Amino acid sequence: MQLIDGKATAAAIKAEIAGEVEQMVSAGGRRPHLAAVLVGHDGGSETYVKNKVKACEECGFRSTLVRYEEDVTEEELLDCVRRLNEDDTVDGFIVQLPLPPHISEQKVIETIDYRKDVDGFHPVNVGRMAIGLPCYISATPKGILELLRRYGIVTSGKKCVVLGRSNIVGKPMAQLMMQKDYGDATVTVCHSHSRDLKEECRAADILIAAIGRPGFVTADMVKNGAVVIDVGTTRVPDASRKSGYRLSGDVDFENVASRCSYISPVPGGVGPMTICMLMLNTLAAGKKEYYG
Ligand code: NAP
Repeated sequence: MQLIDGKATAAAIKAEIAGEVEQMVSAGGRRPHLAAVLVGHDGGSETYVKNKVKACEECGFRSTLVRYEEDVTEEELLDCVRRLNEDDTVDGFIVQLPLPPHISEQKVIETIDYRKDVDGFHPVNVGRMAIGLPCYISATPKGILELLRRYGIVTSGKKCVVLGRSNIVGKPMAQLMMQKDYGDATVTVCHSHSRDLKEECRAADILIAAIGRPGFVTADMVKNGAVVIDVGTTRVPDASRKSGYRLSGDVDFENVASRCSYISPVPGGVGPMTICMLMLNTLAAGKKEYYG
């Protein structure tokens, strides 16, 4: 069994990005600029945004954080998005989700100029991804593809099962694993209404779990020699930690790991890659790689 080290892989990619940025700057170009919009004070969102700003520093990017209180109106937030769309100094930006219930996330996503949508959530990017055109790809599935590639894991012709069908992880993951130029695998997607879910999982050469149910994937659901990618990150109470919680994956790691050829841990697997892929998307935005 080989552990897939997302932390080390992400560090190597960020160093590669930083190297490229310094070359761009030496050649007279400017640093890619990422803006992040954060609404309210949710602990998880605060941490994610803080880590994104830190990753920008590591990559040599410029970053700007725009903050709003929880009671910002939808129109105020949409105005902010429109301003960032028009701001020529900003290459790409994200609006950290989730948003308070009085704001339509879909409206916000669709107001972002798809050419600056480095999260890859705008329907134009989602659609282009689905038909294999150059675009910003959602960071978590993109990071998983990068891990598989860097670990030399063959996906072509393999049976891949994706657990979960969310718009930001499960669906794009399945699309990418299916596509000839990416996974080139035979893909099954399971969700909360899937029958024979255990059977489906047991048939998988590559099992990608993204459901947010700690320890859901047990040893009897995993074929010997399978590759298991654990996307789940659920905060579970842990009195022994200073924070009072720890992150738990969707896979019962302790009992599953020995069956696998490769497995990604939580934490330290997919998580660090997600932010790193946002950085790659921002680099692409700085270089106007997809949309001129
Ligand atoms: P989500 O929007 O809540 O979607 C969960 C999906 O899992 C849904 O499709 C749901 O099915 C399915 N599901 C839930 N319970 C199930 C069960 N018992 N059996 C089968 N399917 C079940 O979640 P998400 O945003 O995709 O995130 C999934 C997990 O990944 C979460 O733990 C999240 O924190 C984590 N995550 C991690 C990263 C990272 O960077 N590491 C990034 C994003 C998300 P239905 O569609 O039928 O409801």
